[in-house]
Amino acid sequence: MENSYILPKLDYSFDALEPSIDAQTMEIHYSKHHQTYLDKFVAAISTKPELNGKPIDVLIKNLYQLPEDVQMSIRNMGGGYYNHNLFWNSISPKKVIPEALKSKIVEDFGTFEKFQELFTNAALGLFGSGWAWLVKDNSTQKLKILTTQNQDNPISSSDVTILLALDVWEHAYYLKYQNKRADYVTAFWNIINWDYAFENFKK
Ligand code: MN
Repeated sequence: MENSYILPKLDYSFDALEPSIDAQTMEIHYSKHHQTYLDKFVAAISTKPELNGKPIDVLIKNLYQLPEDVQMSIRNMGGGYYNHNLFWNSISPKKVIPEALKSKIVEDFGTFEKFQELFTNAALGLFGSGWAWLVKDNSTQKLKILTTQNQDNPISSSDVTILLALDVWEHAYYLKYQNKRADYVTAFWNIINWDYAFENFKK
């Protein structure tokens, strides 16, 4: 049977996000790190025919209902697989933010600059490896900034829709930025795929 879990095709080249993210980091991050999460996730899910083939977002959303003997593998490896799928979509050489999304950000955070400050502080304040997220709270429809540790995803523990994902593991930036996570987060503002965020917002 053909496996239904695959690395998504990038719709830009490895060097398309230069200088914000360098081509070598993109290539290693995608071809090695993401591939390894996928391979290890597939190895884990293959032991559970009743789960194998279910959409990855469904598995991650229902993580804490999954059988205990694969829950940690799916949390770490399935999470790593899914989160990177979201991350590649969250970045793009395009830069224009739809007016309606900008208005919503201003409505929920006060100003766009305040939102940038809060998101940046969240990403920089995260100790160790993890992710920063822009999400929509599905009950209030308000935008929120969240962080998670390791490869955890907010949808496992709360009713939110992911708009944007930022990988703040060192492997995402170390070759170019070394210990300077702040410079990497600053560069992220130049490569956000706002169209993707807006599509997610409208879901
Ligand atoms: Mn990563």
